[in-house]
Amino acid sequence: MRNFAEEIEQRKQSGLYRTRRLVSGPQQPELMVNDQPVLSFCSNDYLGLANHPGNIAALQNALPETGLGGAASHLICGHHTAHHQLEDRLAEFTGRSAALFFSTGYMANMGVISALAGRGDTIFSDRLNHASIIDGCVLSRARIRRYPHSDIAALDEMLAQTSGHKLVVTDGVFSMDGDIAPLKELARVCKRHDALLVVDDAHGIGVLGPEGRGSIAECGLSESDVPVLIGTLGKGVGTSGAFAAGPALLMDYLVQKARTYIYTTAMPPAIAAATCASIDLIERDQPRREHLARLVSVFRQRASAMGYTLIDSRTPIQPIMVGDNEAAMALSEALEQQGVLVTAIRPPTVPAGEARLRVTLSAAHTVEDLERLLVALERCRHLLDKTDLAV
Ligand SMILES: *Cc1c(COP(=O)(O)O)cnc(C)c1O
Repeated sequence: MRNFAEEIEQRKQSGLYRTRRLVSGPQQPELMVNDQPVLSFCSNDYLGLANHPGNIAALQNALPETGLGGAASHLICGHHTAHHQLEDRLAEFTGRSAALFFSTGYMANMGVISALAGRGDTIFSDRLNHASIIDGCVLSRARIRRYPHSDIAALDEMLAQTSGHKLVVTDGVFSMDGDIAPLKELARVCKRHDALLVVDDAHGIGVLGPEGRGSIAECGLSESDVPVLIGTLGKGVGTSGAFAAGPALLMDYLVQKARTYIYTTAMPPAIAAATCASIDLIERDQPRREHLARLVSVFRQRASAMGYTLIDSRTPIQPIMVGDNEAAMALSEALEQQGVLVTAIRPPTVPAGEARLRVTLSAAHTVEDLERLLVALERCRHLLDKTDLAV
């Protein structure tokens, strides 16, 4: 048998051991962690909707109508009117013909990619794609070719060398870097080589684009440019679940073939009802996005003036690059001692030598909250003086 204890010990030695913090109370900037209040800058609740009273009321109002459990898979008897209404709403919101509601983004990526490509096909995947995309590629049994991050010329060349069915998959907003994929160029190159483009906009939905319709809408791209859009609902939207959206034929194909859609119990339908309410709110609440954009711009200005190395990102994901695993942990711990929670992200979540603090901003943060983060960062700046920066 493998020596599991030794593997854990090795992880501890290389600064890669992971532990979980215990949260109580609702998800919001003032977070109770291990029974201590902290100011959190690490959730993906970009719009501050995870604890929104209107969405909570929508969930409570739906419960007497729908009951609690999903009870069966969608193809048996679990496909509830509330799920169906959410799918129609998501199709309308994203400007797509149809949408399909999945239980999580992880399952959406696994199901969609493994349904749309298989043995003998080739998948082209950005080097920095999310773990669920990587796992979806592996599950498909297709040939996998990873292209350098957002490198259109390299992808173009790789596509030109390949025959047969081709699928290109990318994050819309990269989850650990916050930069946006070159979507217009990707759409063009995919059309040229007859490749099917799949974009996972987990961090763009609700946050970017007109009325929060995401990174693809921000670029003005349609369903014919990006045939398959994947979005998640547990981040900016503040509830739970995920969806695929695109041509009705492809969504029908997924109902036939996406195993993570077929062989799993439907989400509690009341969650779908609350998600509809959240989408309504997102569509009309432009000031929420404007406040968030202001926080992002102030953070970037002030943190880089302190000498921190940031990534070229205009999204609420604003990583501070550190490089060394232990230095990233030390900075995170020092901030936590000042009551500010920013988690360190280490390999294999990011490439080796690129450990970082993943700062995320939310519309729920006040200007005073941001000031507290900046003051804490100023006080901790000296900790990085001896560290070689990775970028
Ligand atoms: C978080 C994330 C997912 C997974 O979504 P869940 O609903 O949390 O399972 C998928 N893709 C990307 C890019 C993500 O960041």
